[in-house]
Amino acid sequence: MANQPIFILPEGTERYSKRDALRMNITAAKVLAGIVRTTLGPKGMDKMLVNGMGDITITNDGATIMREMDIAQPAARMLVETAKKQEEIVGDGTTSVVVIAGELLAKAEELLEDGIATSVVVKGFRNATAKAVEILNEIAIDADDKETLQKVAVTAMSGKGSDYAKEHLAGLVVDAALRIEEDGESDIDNINIQRVSGDSVEDSFLAEGIVIDKSPLSKNMPESVEDAKIAIMKYPIELKDINTSTKIDITSPDQFAAFLDNEEEMIKDLVNQIVESGANVLFCQKGIDDLAEHYLKKAGIMAFKRVKKSDMERIEKATGAKLVTDIEDLSEDKLGHAGKVYLKKLFDHKLTFIEECENPKASSIVLRGSTRYVTEQIARALDDALGVVAATIEEGKVLIGGGACEIDLIKELRDYGESVSGREQLAILKYAEALEVIPRTLIENAGLDTINLIADLKAAHEDSNAIGINVFTGEVVDMKDAGVIEPLRVKVQALQSAGEAAEMILRIDDMIAARNALN
Ligand code: ADP
Repeated sequence: MANQPIFILPEGTERYSKRDALRMNITAAKVLAGIVRTTLGPKGMDKMLVNGMGDITITNDGATIMREMDIAQPAARMLVETAKKQEEIVGDGTTSVVVIAGELLAKAEELLEDGIATSVVVKGFRNATAKAVEILNEIAIDADDKETLQKVAVTAMSGKGSDYAKEHLAGLVVDAALRIEEDGESDIDNINIQRVSGDSVEDSFLAEGIVIDKSPLSKNMPESVEDAKIAIMKYPIELKDINTSTKIDITSPDQFAAFLDNEEEMIKDLVNQIVESGANVLFCQKGIDDLAEHYLKKAGIMAFKRVKKSDMERIEKATGAKLVTDIEDLSEDKLGHAGKVYLKKLFDHKLTFIEECENPKASSIVLRGSTRYVTEQIARALDDALGVVAATIEEGKVLIGGGACEIDLIKELRDYGESVSGREQLAILKYAEALEVIPRTLIENAGLDTINLIADLKAAHEDSNAIGINVFTGEVVDMKDAGVIEPLRVKVQALQSAGEAAEMILRIDDMIAARNALN
């Protein structure tokens, strides 16, 4: 009895303690960072991801790669969450955050192997992050003029599949963001990217208002409506499905005719309610059947069915229309307004434009590209660019990219580290060393000589803190002159998120996983 084993966890539970748990988690994080790091910078490569359904995504956007990879290892999943958070908060820097976190953990491993306690490493990294943010704020440049915004947008789009048209696309992003700017804020949710495949990226343009990828139900409906009174409904304008098991007793031809007449009356009534509200344009999230289409056409209403929820929300916001879920509630005060709603053919694609909306902030970038893969990839680059431009408008502070600000930061952090006593100093110095991963990876991805160029960069920084690496020529140049500029907020957020993720992983000294959870 005395030696009877006691089970407190279900059979099959896996448990990893202390160093085993840490080693496993650090390895997983390093592997993930290793996967995304080859995509960093303008010379980064793309990844082709194929999901279980066979859908293909080609991207070098860190967050997208990690989202699509369906990662199972818990620590690696924490890094994925960190990248998503970075994307949500600042819209760019997702690859950097994972690469930095992976490198911080690699350096932490070295410290732990040298016998430094985890708590000391965590404390050192935390202090180093705070100091790094302070330094970045000091070296940031005040600028939010249009020229700077353009450079920020171009830098964010570099290497993301749109390089041949990045100046043009950056111009669209900047114009869109400035159009919606109010009191120094730019709410980019007001900007929609509408993708149209089958044309050249250079033909992309900025449209005022909303653009939706739909045509009116019928060719005989108006293709253009001025002074549009817009109804938006989540209510089917069709006869309720008659269940196949429904039994209808019809004993004479008269009864059958009456049944059909009755159906027709019901549909007519539904359409009448729309007509009576005064609407001349209808966007319906549900179906509209043939009979209803006929009456809507007769009433001269421009009607759309099965409109996407996201488009409905956009139309609601832009035109002031109120979504009606029961047709009985439709009345004039629920209608939205737009100066013009019209159908336009682009290449062989029909789009509907809703212009001169009640909310003048609404705008759309109509992104054109040869194939769906091209437009999808560039749409992600545009999203990143919108995020960084909005961040620059809001904060008005930028940093010099291409590795320049990191080299500066490393130098300053080293000086700070020297001033800290005890073993924490070692952690701060390792943290500084870890940040070298950004310029090093930019150089590596460009196929250039890492050792020599890092040495050149450091030497050149004695004279100017704007020196970075031109990955196209392999030269060490002034990155401010080269127009490689990034918002302060992206770098600050990346360091804070990477620091937090590394700390979270380092603090785990026991992993208890349910049966098969880690396989
Ligand atoms: P992230 O997802 O982290 O933003 P990117 O692949 O967009 O990753 O790469 C960003 C890095 O590329 C930044 O460090 C930035 O300074 C650098 N970068 C961007 N454009 C250039 C350029 N023309 N020359 C050198 N570095 C650049």
